[in-house]
Amino acid sequence: MTDAADAIDLRSDTVTRPSDEMRTAARDAAVGDDVYREDPTVNELEARAADLLGYEAALYVPSGTMGNQVAARTHTERGQEVLVERESHVYKWELAGLSQHAGLQARTVDGGPRGAISPAQVRAAHVEADGHRPGTGLLTLENTHNSKGGTALAPETVDAAAEAAHDLGVPVHLDGARLANAAVARDVPLSRLTREVDSTMTCLSKGLGAPVGSVLAGSKPFVEEARRVRKLFGGGMRQAGVIAAPGLAALENVDRLATDHENARRLASGIDEVEGLAAGEPETNIVLVETATPAEQFLERAAEAGVLGVAFDEYLVRFVTHWDVSAEDVDRAVDRIAAL
Ligand SMILES: *Cc1c(COP(=O)(O)O)cnc(C)c1O
Repeated sequence: MTDAADAIDLRSDTVTRPSDEMRTAARDAAVGDDVYREDPTVNELEARAADLLGYEAALYVPSGTMGNQVAARTHTERGQEVLVERESHVYKWELAGLSQHAGLQARTVDGGPRGAISPAQVRAAHVEADGHRPGTGLLTLENTHNSKGGTALAPETVDAAAEAAHDLGVPVHLDGARLANAAVARDVPLSRLTREVDSTMTCLSKGLGAPVGSVLAGSKPFVEEARRVRKLFGGGMRQAGVIAAPGLAALENVDRLATDHENARRLASGIDEVEGLAAGEPETNIVLVETATPAEQFLERAAEAGVLGVAFDEYLVRFVTHWDVSAEDVDRAVDRIAAL
């Protein structure tokens, strides 16, 4: 039995503690009332995020979930359909927010082992509005794809799906919670992955290490309307510079993600050697492990040995590397798992 404080926490890249630099930035942040748009730190974060993601404007939101939900509501009319990948976060893990917040009906598309929706699938699933049918109001994409094990979709794959939607007059939202991981894995700027997409949400609070916050980027008119929807959803914040300042610092951490990816490969290859466990080669910082024993049972024993993960399916476990986990921690995690 390992001491809880000594546990190697691979449940998510959201478990990181803010760095000293982030805490200092929070303390020293210039602030104002952001509902009046008078918080200089939030304004700077929004400008920098818009630039990084390749858009005219961006909106600071408390969470990735809110960013996705605000985007869906802003792009659509009540009663329309939204095309989603069947294992996507926006469909699977956001409490049916698409129906609750935007009055949408979701139509799922199977993106296969990498969670990539093809142009043919977009065309096949598209619904034209008429006297009986609601019409497709939005396509959402996800990169990296969380449930598929952090797969980093190529720019051309994203472009092709988005272009197919646009040909049908349908706007496209990208859930890029871990877009920086995809950019690092694909060795392209983040803005290359958003080129054909109308809006993108990315999380500052995952691999980039901020304690809180996400951004939603798009055209100026889109972000103006999204700001109203954020207010409607209760996400208008006041002296938010205090939390935006660590977010600004987080934007400097894109290149550091390469270390997480290296550690994920190290973890996967170590685990794959263990009898009863199988892990493919990860593309980014997410490692999916197939277990011979039920995932919950495996995780209980792993936790006792000092390694934390989450169950993704009955015989599937997810581990995520992040900046509070070193290569040495990864080796210790593998040793502990091997000893089970
Ligand atoms: C984590 C995550 C979100 C939601 O972000 P929160 O800040 O936890 O609300 C959305 N999409 C994907 C793909 C995610 O992994």
